Amino acid sequence: MLLSGTIVPDSSTIIENGAVAVDGSEIAAVGKRQSVRAQYPDFPEQQYDIVMPGMVGSHIHSVQSLGRGISDDTELLDWLFDYILPMEATMDAAQMEVAAKLGYLELIETGTTTAIDHLSVAHADRAFEAAGEMGIRGVLGKVLMDQRSPDGLVEETQMALDETERLIERYHGSFNDRIRYAVTPRFAVSCTEECLRGARRLADTYDGVRIHTHASENQGEIETVEADTGKRNIEWLHEVGLTGEDVVLAHCVWTDEAERELLAETGTHVTHCPSSNMKLASGIAPIVDYLDRGINVALGNDGPPCNNTLDPFTEMKQASVLQKVDQLDPTVTPMSDIFEMATINGAKAAGFDRLGKLSPGWRADIIGLSTDSTRGTPLYEILSYLVFAARGEDVQFTMVDGEILMEDGTVTVADADEIRQEATAVAESLDISDERASAQEQKP
Ligand SMILES: [Zn+2]
Repeated sequence: MLLSGTIVPDSSTIIENGAVAVDGSEIAAVGKRQSVRAQYPDFPEQQYDIVMPGMVGSHIHSVQSLGRGISDDTELLDWLFDYILPMEATMDAAQMEVAAKLGYLELIETGTTTAIDHLSVAHADRAFEAAGEMGIRGVLGKVLMDQRSPDGLVEETQMALDETERLIERYHGSFNDRIRYAVTPRFAVSCTEECLRGARRLADTYDGVRIHTHASENQGEIETVEADTGKRNIEWLHEVGLTGEDVVLAHCVWTDEAERELLAETGTHVTHCPSSNMKLASGIAPIVDYLDRGINVALGNDGPPCNNTLDPFTEMKQASVLQKVDQLDPTVTPMSDIFEMATINGAKAAGFDRLGKLSPGWRADIIGLSTDSTRGTPLYEILSYLVFAARGEDVQFTMVDGEILMEDGTVTVADADEIRQEATAVAESLDISDERASAQEQKP
């Protein structure tokens, strides 16, 4: 098919009156509409005001979608142990599936085509199946927790690693390789050394499997790790093998000079989650410094309970304005850097080649937006609109691997109303009081 409009193939190129030709799962041509149309005269055509690469959400918790609004105005460890862990501990398989679908629905609706998704401890199969059915690209992982964790989540170490291995064999490369696996320790606080080293072993055993965890998000967290291990958090993760080009660390707010050097030297990817960091009052990640050091910085919404949406456009704006006020310098994190964090840098973090820009031979993960709105008027500069004014609801079209997931604003791969109704019903029935008591006993 042909997608025509103003094409934004990457952060430095705008093609007015352009078109993208999609042949099967790949992009066949990008250029002026007239010349692309001449090459592919028979392709059906859809027109959108802006056509750009699908966004990559490089740190997402789809299954926390049911917790949107249950834990506002709290800091990380209270947020986690009083609300989120109890909620995850109480959810059964059917509820986990509804939660995952709600998350993926929001991603498809708002323009995220690839998610690096931190699931929960149990019922990961349901999320893998939901992601595969709904057609999103994802690097998903069952969460590992083998210490300092409430009943219902804490697992015996070897059992947790064995279950991870089963899931890797079943889902890594599944759904035409749209779905891949990330070994996913929750964070160093809730994982033993044996568990963290086991995560590294599994990632080394299976080609293309990534490691995805939270790191140095909150000061209480790094104090706990320091008391446990005698080391700074990133130094500890490095010692047990959790740095490197196959590792995606979410947050990295509180890092010292030596840790930043480690991140740069090892090629570890960092996912910045500005809304979450601001809402949980975790701190301001030193993103300008990371970019100066050549660290690959991607962008993520984190979970709906700490954001409270999965809208990638909001996240781009937050990422930019947070660094500007932190540095008291409006020139830092220019629009092009932010656009790259949300697209090509995320693709690198996720480990998919030929992803994150529109180019012949690259994967056809594409979104289309409408600028027919007051916030899209006037429209001097496309990148300015995308980074500072656009919202997820402006996305009208979402495609992964050449398959349409949403067109003309209607999701085609799922019944959106049904998912929302099911999620509302599940949310009304959730009772986390027993699990909360157990979780609070484990709070560091
Ligand atoms: Zn997170």
